[in-house]
Amino acid sequence: MSVLVYIESEEGKFKKASFEVASYAKEVAGMMDTSVTGVTFNAPDTAELGTYGIEKVLNIKNEKLNKFNAEAYADALKQAAEKESSKVIVLSQSANSRYLAPALAVQLEAGYASNVVALPESTEPFTVKRNAFTMKAFNITKITTDVKIIGLAKNAFGVKEHQAEATAEEFSPVLSDEDFSVNVESVDKATNKVTIADAEIVVSGGRGLKGPENWEMIEEMAEILGAATACSKPVSDMGWRPHSEHVGQTGKPVASNLYIAVGISGAIQHLAGINAAKTKVVINNDPEAPFYKAADYGIVGDAFEIVPKLNEKLKEF
Ligand code: FAD
Repeated sequence: MSVLVYIESEEGKFKKASFEVASYAKEVAGMMDTSVTGVTFNAPDTAELGTYGIEKVLNIKNEKLNKFNAEAYADALKQAAEKESSKVIVLSQSANSRYLAPALAVQLEAGYASNVVALPESTEPFTVKRNAFTMKAFNITKITTDVKIIGLAKNAFGVKEHQAEATAEEFSPVLSDEDFSVNVESVDKATNKVTIADAEIVVSGGRGLKGPENWEMIEEMAEILGAATACSKPVSDMGWRPHSEHVGQTGKPVASNLYIAVGISGAIQHLAGINAAKTKVVINNDPEAPFYKAADYGIVGDAFEIVPKLNEKLKEF
């Protein structure tokens, strides 16, 4: 009856979002008086997962699963859930998990609640709080199916550490050719050292920066802060920055701890994608820019004066 967690990894490293999901699952398991089982795919070493509340790991070893495939991963997770008699399965809201969770829900005939932002209000009936309308509202959802799937919104819960080691067990689900009938070829064009999805801090530039040649100061700030760089839609449409950096309603969502917007007006479609960022700082020379209404801190002034000065100060820390 353990709570099952899908642990994601990339290039041999577990993703931080999975540590948050594991921490969340640990507390849900506590509410249900049960334990947490993590499922990994071809992971080299799983012992550290105990630190995040995972007591047991089912490590699936199968070369065909080196590359993410929603149908095959869903079938493998279904079999892991059946093996552990799991009634609650928790995933992150990464691009892969958002693709995987509905496929898993179909296979298990489970109810799926995405964008969950807090621990269940109750587990009997299973009731969760979710964000809706790009965090402008919340809704309370009761999942009434036997098996429940939770998609945890990024940064909603945080990572909590425990002093334990996870016991590992190899697991070999039976997969058919049909599981691999759809193959998505992905091309990753991201140029960031830190990806927007994993970043604690995102430094973002808009049309106010006048042209691609002025991004050096944004990149410098990102370098100093260990941040990812991002941009508004027109900036990527004009080819000043790659499309992989476009954030907003039609771009990537941002849920970092800090979002610094430079020369971005704060149009509703931009704000829709960055509402989940915890602290928002805006630098804009127009005190009437709509972004100031959404920001926690603002500096009114010319970005070309402020950002270089800010970078010099930040280097001192
Ligand atoms: P602008 O609106 O031109 O703003 C530039 C800002 O820079 C201004 O506020 C100005 O005061 C400031 N500025 C100028 N010079 C300086 C200076 N020297 N120093 C400091 N500040 C300065 N947009 C997105 O970003 N993401 C989306 O996902 C998105 N999806 C959309 C979907 C739809 C269906 C539609 C219709 C639009 C969408 N948009 C999206 C576009 C959105 O409506 C805005 O047009 C866009 O966000 C504006 O980008 P911007 O703030 O960079 O540019």
